[in-house]
This record gives sequence, structure tokens and C-alpha cells, in this order.
Amino acid sequence: MADCLFCMIAAGKIPSKKVYADDRYYAFEDINPQAPTHVLVIPRVHITTLNDLTPADGPLMGDMLLLAARIAKERGLGEQGYRLNFNCLEDGGQTVPHVHVHVMGGRRFSWPPG
Ligand code: AMP
Ligand code: ZN
Repeated sequence: MADCLFCMIAAGKIPSKKVYADDRYYAFEDINPQAPTHVLVIPRVHITTLNDLTPADGPLMGDMLLLAARIAKERGLGEQGYRLNFNCLEDGGQTVPHVHVHVMGGRRFSWPPG
């Protein structure tokens, strides 16, 4: 999608600190990290919110979770743990309208979230 921030980041049109890339996904450091590790994983295909997912996106999203967990473990978070977070629309705290999962770790998170 031409005017989407994360589509442009995945395409290399806006600079980012790359963590991982393949033909389906791009992962990069969050510009405003909320934890010692804060990586965003996005599908290269534009999907605006979780509401827009269809059953056909199941494998894409499932593999995205596997990738997110792999990145967390590669960051050394496998023993202490980590948090994967999807935000959806206003009440969910979504600010960028392209589906992404936050991979956060390196500190203790509270529950329930604020
Ligand atoms: P969300 O609030 O769930 O939509 O998350 C969007 C995330 O994108 C926030 O944590 C922002 O800090 C992050 N972000 C926004 N712009 C950029 C950027 N240019 N590069 C890296 N991360 C960004
Ligand atoms: Zn997009």
C-alpha cells in the first residue's frame, strides 16, 4: 500500500534497523522501545488490522508467530520469557494501520496491561 508507513519500511523506502527479512516478513527495531528488546514483525503484504484477517491468512499469521518466538529466543529471552503483543484499533492502542506483532522482553511486564 503506497502510503503505509510499514509497507514503506518493508520495501526499504524508509530506513529502519533490520532484524530479519524474507519474502513474506520484515522485522525491525521499534523506534521507541518500551523494553530492552522491542522488535516489530510485519507481514510484507498490507493488512490494516486484525479485523481484516481471513481464514486464508491463517498460515501467514501462524508462521509470523513462529518467527516472533524465534526472534525472542535468538535475543536470549527463551528462559526468562517475553511478551508478544498485537494491538487493534483505538482501544487496543494501534497507531500504525498495518498488522504487526511487538516482540518485547528483557524486563518484567505487568498484568493486566494498563
Ligand atoms: P502500535 O501502537 O501497536 O500500532 O505500534 C506501532 C509501533 O511502531 C510503535 O511502538 C512505534 O514506536 C513504532 N514505530 C512508529 N514509527 C516507526 C518507525 N519509523 N520505525 C520503527 N518503529 C516505528
Ligand atoms: Zn502497509
